Amino acid sequence: MDKNSGERPQAPETIEGTRSAPPPRFVPPPTPAAAAPLAATATCQNCGQAVGPEPSCQTCGQVLFLPRGIPLATVGLRFGGYLLEGVLIVCTLVIGWFVWAFIVFQYGQTPAKQLLHMRVVFIPEARTAGWWRMFFREFIAKTIIAILASFTLLIPYFWLMWDRNRQELWDKMATTLVVSDPQDQLAPRT
Ligand SMILES: [Zn+2]
Repeated sequence: MDKNSGERPQAPETIEGTRSAPPPRFVPPPTPAAAAPLAATATCQNCGQAVGPEPSCQTCGQVLFLPRGIPLATVGLRFGGYLLEGVLIVCTLVIGWFVWAFIVFQYGQTPAKQLLHMRVVFIPEARTAGWWRMFFREFIAKTIIAILASFTLLIPYFWLMWDRNRQELWDKMATTLVVSDPQDQLAPRT
């Protein structure tokens, strides 16, 4: 006992009454307000669940680098978009679709994505994909994947169903995500 106290010169609190105002010896339980800043970098701003290294929340789909309320587009919406795109191409006699697409590429959209309030976002810059990235994604990357899919039972077209960020292979080539932006929060400010 005596030996221990000799090795620790900074232990006057152990003796009652030596200090008029002893510091509190207990650590108060963290209040929610105090805990929030610590957890802010590791929880989803939309649902509050813990998030990992993925760019999207694995619980609610919120894209973590975009404003709240912009999740990944659902699998159903994506496939619905493919169907609608095909209908639009036919209905506009192909050429109309191209004109329309070349106008909305700058907003990270295709004609069907515009009608369904979906957008393509470029992950490294955390913003909507630009015109040339859309051109690369829609025509070059998709052509390469179509060739690949033609001798792999079309399996690549279903890639988004098991991908953690619902990316198609052409999304991986273009480093993009497809988001649902129902309130057009990512629309360019006019
Ligand atoms: Zn979430």
